[in-house]
Amino acid sequence: MNSGYIKKQNLNFLIDNTNNILKWAFKKYPGKIFGTTAFGANGIVLLDLVNKIDKKVPFYFINTGYHFRETLDVLEHYKKNGFNIIGVTSNVDDSNHLLVDMGPDVCCSINKVEPMRKILQENKGNLWIAAVSRGQSSTRRNFRFLEPQDNNIIKICPMLVWKEDEIWSYINENKLVYNKLYDKGYKSIGCEPCTTKVEDGEDSRAGRWRGSNKEECGLQTEFGK
Ligand code: SF4
Repeated sequence: MNSGYIKKQNLNFLIDNTNNILKWAFKKYPGKIFGTTAFGANGIVLLDLVNKIDKKVPFYFINTGYHFRETLDVLEHYKKNGFNIIGVTSNVDDSNHLLVDMGPDVCCSINKVEPMRKILQENKGNLWIAAVSRGQSSTRRNFRFLEPQDNNIIKICPMLVWKEDEIWSYINENKLVYNKLYDKGYKSIGCEPCTTKVEDGEDSRAGRWRGSNKEECGLQTEFGK
């Protein structure tokens, strides 16, 4: 077997594994599945895989008001192409962009965690699909496929074992439209004031809130039991 074949087959095994998890999800929670995405590399792969099963599954996008133009371009692309994307914003008016100056914990809490809490309240008892991988950061290394959340929600993480190069092989093979900032040295793309490029050898999320101890905005870590 040559290395190209082995690489391809490894990706096929991963896709089969993720599709099996999704098949389980659709059988257990018919009509009760929702996702969240910020249109990162993992997110667009998951969107594509879910969309191939059921185009109606809603994916929430939390618009903090601080996203890069490139991120909003990807959002528009997927919306225009029939993906069921629901935009959500905070109830607090931050049109003058003052919240970020109050520190990342306050800003993330108002702009990300509170809107997410609202999403979880609206989806009590449902299944939340998230595109996280264990390799993204130390905070995600112990994530499981199923993670109980508030409001009797189960979060399912069907891409837990995907590695970065496998994500990109899928994106390239399927010609998925992705955030152009990945071509400029970014590896994990959040809000513009809190995202920097990543050096070789760093975790993909190392560019988020650089210079502080903060590693998570709370969306993936605040609501677990
Ligand atoms: S990532 Fe930065 S700009 Fe975005 S909500 Fe958090 S603190 Fe605010």
